[in-house]
Amino acid sequence: MKREDNYDIIIIGAGASGLVAAIGAKEASPKKSVLVLEKNQIPGKKLSRTGNGRCNFTNRAISVDHYNSPDKESLEQILSSFTLEDSLSFFSKKGIVPYERNGCFYPYSGEAKSFRDILLLRAKERGVIFSVEESGVSLEREDGYFRIKTDKNIFFAKKYILSTGGLAAPDTGAMGDGYKLLSSLGLDVNKPLPALSPLKCEGAFSEDFAGIRVYGRINIAHKSDVIASDFGELQFNKGSISGIPVLNVSSSAIRLFDENERVRICLDLLPKSFDYSAFIRNLMGDIKVKDALLSILNYKMIPFFLKKAGISLSDRLSDISSKKLKLLFDILSSFSFDMTGYAGFEKAQTSSGGLSLSEVDPHTMELRKFPGLFVTGELLDCDGICGGYNLHFAFATGLLAGKASAGGK
Ligand SMILES: Cc1cc2nc3c(=O)[nH]c(=O)nc-3n(C[C@H](O)[C@H](O)[C@H](O)COP(=O)(O)OP(=O)(O)OC[C@H]3O[C@@H](n4cnc5c(N)ncnc54)[C@H](O)[C@@H]3O)c2cc1C
Repeated sequence: MKREDNYDIIIIGAGASGLVAAIGAKEASPKKSVLVLEKNQIPGKKLSRTGNGRCNFTNRAISVDHYNSPDKESLEQILSSFTLEDSLSFFSKKGIVPYERNGCFYPYSGEAKSFRDILLLRAKERGVIFSVEESGVSLEREDGYFRIKTDKNIFFAKKYILSTGGLAAPDTGAMGDGYKLLSSLGLDVNKPLPALSPLKCEGAFSEDFAGIRVYGRINIAHKSDVIASDFGELQFNKGSISGIPVLNVSSSAIRLFDENERVRICLDLLPKSFDYSAFIRNLMGDIKVKDALLSILNYKMIPFFLKKAGISLSDRLSDISSKKLKLLFDILSSFSFDMTGYAGFEKAQTSSGGLSLSEVDPHTMELRKFPGLFVTGELLDCDGICGGYNLHFAFATGLLAGKASAGGK
């Protein structure tokens, strides 16, 4: 049976940003009625999976430099309203004790599920009403007000917060509904693409590499420019590469690739400032080249790189010219190949693209063209690297929208 209820504020989507928006709204104005619609049975499904189940919720180095967004000015404004200190203070007041590791903050429990449960509890204690297994389907304008049709009911509210997330990890409920709702209002949504995603490079290396993890630098090159670069543990898979540095450069690489541009991936597999001639000089005796490489490369990779340099498995250091040896180390320091694709949203941790930040007032997250409608989180055109940046952005925008929709500052 259809219900037609009125609320002061309706939030569509009970994920990271929606939960914080709900708490923010109630804290700013406890008397206002807040309804949260969530299509899943349990709110915060993606949140409960974050950080390998441990929830990396913010970072000591929060700054615009760690995000991709065409509108860095608005982003700067958003981040200045919710600094690292603001985040730690907000969550500790909710009962979340932080634990820092290498600049990344997690709940001390080490449990993303407990982080989600605490936010849900705090929202309910403050009187937020949740309607689960209910999806927002359309937003319609009537006499200057909006009403929302769900798959079960019709609701009216003075203020709406769209917190439906993007398209990454669709099994958590992120199926692009928010983009459709925004487009139905005539707003331009920049093409959503997977970000923090493995990159495909079929045929670039031997299948024996699958499963190997090595330290190295990845550079993404377009024409003669390096457009993104990162260092850390690279992971080789069958026909693709992943690992944190790969995920961190994936947003820029995928966007270019999607524009049919040729994208080159260049890996430096040698240690930083590696002096190969000193390394060879220091080696005792005339050993086989393959054995000389054992301390630098995974043994399964050695035959592939020796072959590329025209060196055989039985060649000793004395058998090959210094030119050939240099070629081998040049190949290892700039192992380059074409990007051939990217993994889909199923394997991505966030979405790039979305609603441009210039469409919202960065002090409130209210749509400039539609007062009373607010947008938060992954729906917006802003994606961060690994390390707690995406959740930080979701919480920052959620809190701004929650407070502003309730009339608070
Ligand atoms: C595996 C994984 C690990 C991650 N780890 C981290 C990490 O450690 N640190 C970090 O900073 N970021 C991490 N992220 C990214 C982070 O989870 C997202 O940036 C963040 O959850 C986005 O918040 P959101 O509120 O915009 O969307 P979501 O958290 O996706 O929430 C959207 C909610 O809206 C609901 N919904 C969708 N459509 C409708 C509809 N029509 N009606 C009603 N409800 C709807 C969904 O079911 C969902 O509950 C990770 C992501 C993944 C997939």
